[in-house]
Amino acid sequence: MISQTAKNKNVTLKKLRSRLLAAGLRPSVQRLAVLGDLCEHYDHPTADTIHSRLLPQMPTLSKTTVYNTLRVLCEAGLVRSLNIAHACQRFDGHLDSHDHFICSHCGHVYDLPHERGNRLPDFGSLGLHVEREEISYYGLCRNCQKQERDNPEGR
Ligand SMILES: [Zn+2]
Ligand SMILES: [Zn+2]
Repeated sequence: MISQTAKNKNVTLKKLRSRLLAAGLRPSVQRLAVLGDLCEHYDHPTADTIHSRLLPQMPTLSKTTVYNTLRVLCEAGLVRSLNIAHACQRFDGHLDSHDHFICSHCGHVYDLPHERGNRLPDFGSLGLHVEREEISYYGLCRNCQKQERDNPEGR
């Protein structure tokens, strides 16, 4: 499991720029910043979190711009938007196939390795074409389980 606080140091402006260009997008300052933030962090941030992280370097950046930029990046397939029940929309800049565990208590989203075994449906014979797959597991994370054990009345 990748730690929430892990930071990906391999994100260079050059790589971000070529990813945008390859997707047919102009590498504007805003797009580079938003995509960069998502590739750098593993915390599946909300649009608001991205906005507040970028604000110190980009004081004129509006929330609307962040929302619009995220929409464009999602449509271009450079960013995944996660559909998490009962939560704000979260975004993921890591496109390697991986699954998610969402803590229903603290709301943290953990990355899990993508392991499927042989239990996949035979999509072809069903006449279905899969464009993306996303599996989410819900439950209590280690921290929240510990908190509950230490403090059973404290919920
Ligand atoms: Zn938790
Ligand atoms: Zn993820």
